Amino acid sequence: MTEGDKDDIDLAVKAARKAFDHGAWPRMTGNERGKLMIKYAELIEEHINELAALDSLNGGKLLSSVKAREIPAGANLLRYYAGAADKIHGDTLKLAGEFHGYTLKEPIGVVGHIVPWNFPTPLFFFKVSPALAAGCTMVVKPAELTPLSALYYAHLAKQPNQAGIPDGVINVVNGFGATAGAALSSHMDVDKISFTGSTEVGRLVMEAAAKSNLKQVSLELGGKSPVIIFDDADVDMAVSIAHMANFFNKGEFCVAGSRIYVHENIYDEFLKKSVEMAKNTVIGDPFDPRVQQGPQTDKKQFEKILRYIECGKNEGATLVTGGKTYGSKGYYIEPTIFTDVQENMKIAQDEIFGPVMALMKFKTIEEAIEKANATRYGLAAGIITKDLNIANRVSRSVRAGTIWINCYFVFDPSCPFGGFKMSGFGKDQGMEALDKYLQVKSVITPIFSSPW
Ligand code: NAD
Repeated sequence: MTEGDKDDIDLAVKAARKAFDHGAWPRMTGNERGKLMIKYAELIEEHINELAALDSLNGGKLLSSVKAREIPAGANLLRYYAGAADKIHGDTLKLAGEFHGYTLKEPIGVVGHIVPWNFPTPLFFFKVSPALAAGCTMVVKPAELTPLSALYYAHLAKQPNQAGIPDGVINVVNGFGATAGAALSSHMDVDKISFTGSTEVGRLVMEAAAKSNLKQVSLELGGKSPVIIFDDADVDMAVSIAHMANFFNKGEFCVAGSRIYVHENIYDEFLKKSVEMAKNTVIGDPFDPRVQQGPQTDKKQFEKILRYIECGKNEGATLVTGGKTYGSKGYYIEPTIFTDVQENMKIAQDEIFGPVMALMKFKTIEEAIEKANATRYGLAAGIITKDLNIANRVSRSVRAGTIWINCYFVFDPSCPFGGFKMSGFGKDQGMEALDKYLQVKSVITPIFSSPW
């Protein structure tokens, strides 16, 4: 087995530094960089079958979903930022006195990207695409559980036969967090770390940056997102959205809407239909197109989820469906729903990262807002209502980085994505993400002859 560690990170950072300080990439016009990124996106689409199989095999993800959504999302992120690469510019400034000023937006330098395992392709391109457009060079440390597609992406980027992105621009080092990840975040020659993962590790990354060269840091961390369902909602639609918000990707997604608040007037109907839908979920081999839920990613994750289910029972919540492993082989867990959940229970506060829904009731809009905000996280929230006034009021009052109204888990490269509170800071996607990889320089010069 090959495992990258500190020495490999050093080599990769050296290559990225050389490509940044002396190579063509940061010196190309944005238009030229954009053309190569579009070529890269096309190559990804040509290799979609192999890439989808790798992510599905590595993470137990549904092959159909990876192929229909995740690999195309990677290619679309490249195209979006390819279009932005030639629109990076500063401002002209009118200064006091006989001086003229302007700003330059320059690539930040060598970037370290550290990513988790739950969406290997979209998360790779959340990071790599804006950094490429900005003219940065980079070292990516994928999660140890899902190392494969990142290697394929590095291969597809290469010149001369693939996309033509120069050597040293995208470097991938697979390895463990405590060794390779820590070496990257504490490296003295890395200018920025863009991290996606747990809040606990995000803290370590920030600490390592502070203790080394004060590199810039952006953190996309965990969540415990609420979905608030008002009594004017179409109950069938609300049930489908809540189901998806909890059980999509076997609950292993950062924006999982794992706290469901339902208005008391529709609670009983909602519960009955949600239980039916959970029981009808087809669990099994993620390569089988009929299957709706595959296995949890690994044993550690599987055992952690089962411990949370036990914890929910011990804390006094009512298990209404699921709660057990499925089949005799593999890390399968039945879609699980708890009722009688109190705000202070661990299953209502902690990110479980598994197919576990906590269902709670509310009466008033004020109560719903207060409960939705009763969390240390602030990644996303869902609102289900036909009333525009309610939707507007709640979306302004809930402290979260993304609000979905009458939908959930809709992503687009143009929508800035990232957390409030302990879900982190700094955005992926949108023009905001491009700014993360740029730094602004002020240039000041006399208008006429120099006074000195
Ligand atoms: P994790 O924090 O354990 O690992 C994430 C990455 O950090 C991995 O590549 C890992 O090897 C590395 N790492 C681990 N220890 C490290 C260290 N000491 N120094 C540097 N790097 C280290 O997270 P995970 O279990 O892989 O992923 C699940 C978490 O990711 C969840 O909390 C989830 O909410 C979060 N997540 C957040 C987003 C988002 O955009 N906000 C997206 C997906 C996942």
